[in-house]
Amino acid sequence: MAGFSFAVEARDGRARAGRLVTPHGEVETPVFMPVGTAGAVKAVLHRDLREMGARILLANTYHLMLRPGDALVGGLGGLHGFTGWDGPFLTDSGGYQVFSLAALRKLDEEGVRFQSHIDGTAHTLSPERSMEVQQNLGADIAMAFDECPPGDAPREAVAEATARTTRWARRSRAAHRRDDQWLFGIVQGGVHLDLRETSARELLEIGFPGYAVGGLSVGEPKPGRDRVLEHLDPILPAERPRYLMGVGTPEDLVDSVARGVDMFDCVLPTRNARNGQLFTSRGRLSIRNARYKDDPRPPDPECACPTCRTASRAYLRHLHQAGEMTAATLMSIHNLFFYVDIMKAMRQSIRLCRFEEWRGATLRRLAAADQDGS
Ligand SMILES: [Zn+2]
Repeated sequence: MAGFSFAVEARDGRARAGRLVTPHGEVETPVFMPVGTAGAVKAVLHRDLREMGARILLANTYHLMLRPGDALVGGLGGLHGFTGWDGPFLTDSGGYQVFSLAALRKLDEEGVRFQSHIDGTAHTLSPERSMEVQQNLGADIAMAFDECPPGDAPREAVAEATARTTRWARRSRAAHRRDDQWLFGIVQGGVHLDLRETSARELLEIGFPGYAVGGLSVGEPKPGRDRVLEHLDPILPAERPRYLMGVGTPEDLVDSVARGVDMFDCVLPTRNARNGQLFTSRGRLSIRNARYKDDPRPPDPECACPTCRTASRAYLRHLHQAGEMTAATLMSIHNLFFYVDIMKAMRQSIRLCRFEEWRGATLRRLAAADQDGS
């Protein structure tokens, strides 16, 4: 497809450093995509995202179809025209959120009927409708519509959802028309390796330019996730991008890159920032902690972000306690910068064939010191 390519440029073990080219720009992988749920990364301006080196944003199909409506966004030039972010976008399928947020009315082979969590109005999401919405939103990368069962679902239910995800992937593929948009398939199957393998092989038969691994951010234990990624690594085509949806902590990103993942998204850095939790090179720091009330140090003395260059822990704690909007902005900028920076460090260490060494040292630092002293 014109305007798109992906190439793995360096490897170290299973870890890969690559380049994803889209019509709206190039992205070096492994990459973290900040989540712009409703078309904006909460509390952060595009300018700040650009400056920190964020290259590709995620937007949520479910939220945007309900408000302001995908047809409206489409009429205003899609997400790029509507939001003014001229870099690449990825939209999710709406599947995960319809299952986690909406009041479900009816799930059958056709799709999902549900009530909006905003105003209770009735809507349907099906593979065809998800494609229509995502083509209206016009992201560079769209996702096939999938059924995402809860993490504690019994095997039989997971097997059923996985088989349906394949059928829905086929319908998504058939309904997808835009040739300036890549459509990725989503591998489901919970923590069951045989279901994961079947799911991946069936999607490979349909054929997608990239593959996502879904259903691994729904509360399953980490060893289960690691095993799934290790099992999928030799099955997924080496020359196609792999995207682990909705994951995770800095440690999760490092451990998943070690298992061959190229792309990530997660609300943790922004959501936790709004709750006063900062990710730092020495572990997490809760700005609410009274020990910081007169602490003149920046959140992370080793961080070069605009927040750490100018704000003390004492000031951030004051802003947070006072309910100032700036607290969310300053702390979101730091957390996102930290995520973007750790991805950059991973890319460099893979290119230098020193990833395992870097990984060991980084995980030790993240675990060794708890900033809150507990
Ligand atoms: Zn910082």
